[in-house]
Amino acid sequence: MSVVTEQQGHGGVSFAQDEETRLILDSIDDFIEQEVKPLEDELGETFDNPRLSNEADGAVVPEVQEAADEVRRKSAEAGFYAMNMPEEYGGEGVSNVTWYRATRHVSEKGRGLHELMLAGPEGPKPLLLQAEGEQVEKYLEPCIRGEKTTAFGLTEPSVGSDAPSMKTTAEKDGDEWVLNGSKQWITNAPHCDFAQIFARTTPVEDAGRYGGITCFIVESDEFELGSYNNAVGLEGRQAEVLLNDVRIPEDRVLGTQDGAFYNAMSFLSLGRLELGARAVGLSRNLLDLCKEYANEREAFGKPIGEYQQVSTKVAKGRARNYTADSAGLRLAWQMDEGQQTVEESSIFKWYATDTLWQIADDAVQIHASSGLSEDNPFMDHLHIARVLRVVEGTDEIQLNTVAKQNGLL
Ligand SMILES: Cc1cc2nc3c(=O)[nH]c(=O)nc-3n(C[C@H](O)[C@H](O)[C@H](O)COP(=O)(O)OP(=O)(O)OC[C@H]3O[C@@H](n4cnc5c(N)ncnc54)[C@H](O)[C@@H]3O)c2cc1C
Repeated sequence: MSVVTEQQGHGGVSFAQDEETRLILDSIDDFIEQEVKPLEDELGETFDNPRLSNEADGAVVPEVQEAADEVRRKSAEAGFYAMNMPEEYGGEGVSNVTWYRATRHVSEKGRGLHELMLAGPEGPKPLLLQAEGEQVEKYLEPCIRGEKTTAFGLTEPSVGSDAPSMKTTAEKDGDEWVLNGSKQWITNAPHCDFAQIFARTTPVEDAGRYGGITCFIVESDEFELGSYNNAVGLEGRQAEVLLNDVRIPEDRVLGTQDGAFYNAMSFLSLGRLELGARAVGLSRNLLDLCKEYANEREAFGKPIGEYQQVSTKVAKGRARNYTADSAGLRLAWQMDEGQQTVEESSIFKWYATDTLWQIADDAVQIHASSGLSEDNPFMDHLHIARVLRVVEGTDEIQLNTVAKQNGLL
């Protein structure tokens, strides 16, 4: 039921899957089978058991990180990893609708190493497309080729949602900028080649709340790695970035000086589309597992799916998943059309991740004791659903945006 059609004016706008996308999805399946599955088999439990995949201080064990790096590099070689990036820089330039379908498709296979085959927070994002001159060759293109990884440094110990109140500063000294402050919860900080660090360059009084913020490319040997920030189920991926008198040359300013916050805001829709697509795919995966179990597992002489309290959980999950998917496809299409999608992207991110949360909770309930078992993926889905409801703007921030777009707040 993934085909949604919509009429606009006299011309029909179809969301039916085209042949090119079908071929991409088929080749994704082949790639996972041939390149990713053998690595997963080799790692066995080490990959998804946090007690085995992390060192005592939280760091990911080398063999897991090596497997992740291999998936990323091979996927980039095969043209999947950054397929939504422009062809002129080595991407495939696919539409947002195709990117949405590919992301959803990968997540439909559940949690695992295969999720890393499409660029996540460690990969190239539209902000990096602001790269100019030597930055293109040194940072943007290697990132698209999967040879280098990055990190996005906005959140600080005292500011998360309220990012413009950041305390990290950068002051000009001759031809250099001097950065001071600290970031936390920075995904891929422990493994990145370079980070994109946001710092206040002009005081609020002079530049306004959203102005006066600049993004700097900071190489990994230029910042100090602080403690790991371990979210349950994602141990070893996030960490503090400490900046103590870090001197950065002028040519490492990414995009416009003082304009980084506006830049970042203009790319929010893509991040929300991507996270929502992951949530839609993971929800489908869970619904499939629930349907199978509800037909197989018997209680009081019949399959549990024959009890209305069980079947209704699956039916409601299916209805929510269908609605979220339709909203995702429509958002991707609107973005391809160059439309403003501030409200739609917030609605989609909030709804798709909230839906995943509800489906994951029902999946645990349907599987009952085995739903709670470490051997099954349900609690892991519940954890990731919880994370997705916080990152890239919390539920509350998404709903604030919708309220503001409707003349409230
Ligand atoms: C796994 C993970 C990965 C992350 N990766 C990155 C990364 O790579 N880079 C990065 O920069 N950050 C990253 N973050 C940080 C993430 O972006 C922040 O956690 C998020 O923005 C929320 O900030 P906070 O945790 O400080 O919560 P706060 O902003 O302090 O919010 C606390 C609570 O108050 C609510 N709240 C705040 N303001 C309002 C308001 N105006 N109206 C209503 N409610 C409000 C929030 O919704 C929340 O419920 C990551 C976090 C996690 C957990």
